[in-house]
Amino acid sequence: MRIEKAAEIGFCTGVRRAIDMIEKAAGEMGPLQTLGPIVHNQQVVDKLASCGVTVADSLDQLKRDILCISSHGVGPQVIDEAESRGIKIIDTTCPFVRRAQGAAKKLANAGFSVVVFGDENHREVQGVLGYAGEKGLATVKVPPFSKLSPRVGILSQTTQSFPAFHSFVSSFIQKHLERIAELRVVNTICDATRKHQEAALELAKRSDVMLVVGSRGSANTKRLAELCSVVVDTHHIETAREIDPSWFTGKDGHIGITAGASTPDEVIDEVVSRLDGMK
Ligand code: SF4
Repeated sequence: MRIEKAAEIGFCTGVRRAIDMIEKAAGEMGPLQTLGPIVHNQQVVDKLASCGVTVADSLDQLKRDILCISSHGVGPQVIDEAESRGIKIIDTTCPFVRRAQGAAKKLANAGFSVVVFGDENHREVQGVLGYAGEKGLATVKVPPFSKLSPRVGILSQTTQSFPAFHSFVSSFIQKHLERIAELRVVNTICDATRKHQEAALELAKRSDVMLVVGSRGSANTKRLAELCSVVVDTHHIETAREIDPSWFTGKDGHIGITAGASTPDEVIDEVVSRLDGMK
């Protein structure tokens, strides 16, 4: 059995930056709360809890007048509400998410409908939609013309795959271009996501089995698993304990490993150790 990790794997710059900012703030200011989990990974949330950083589900649950915003960002309504209550904000919104928020705001202010290609229930998407106001909608299916204005801007959730975004935009053009006056497409897929996906696919093509490590609640981890499963037998696991040795029966060759942008190095290392023990 040969084990190989993808060239780009685990924490992205946005997640690492958010965790560093919060750990530093907690060291200086004492116990803090994040609005929702800082990333979609329980091990990270548990580790931060040991440094005094816990999760609040709403502003009403804050124990102090300090709020940490996660790398996924929030809509302007949340910031306004926090400021009106005199709450100090530690904002770790990823610069790539901020770019998508800025694009949504600019398009909406210019009178465009803002279509966000992504999961409407994801916190990042909800935050971006907040900047589009009444002109925004999120979807993974091309919306009906009745929901759009004559000028349309399309963005993507930062962690979508480029092939899926490309296919969405193509279908949109095919269905609606005749009837709309202007279409703007802003590619807001983040660089880290693109590099993770390219590295995972490159490795998947050379592997007999792929393991994708990360939370089942993590959008970018799910996307990696979807992409790899198109080319090779792929298993999405959260920890090394979930590895089933029968996956490798009759596959004596190459095991590829990739991991989502919120998966800590320790979790990836445990997966490698468990596989090493099966050799
Ligand atoms: Fe930022 Fe991309 Fe990481 Fe999300 S996946 S936190 S957008 S760098």
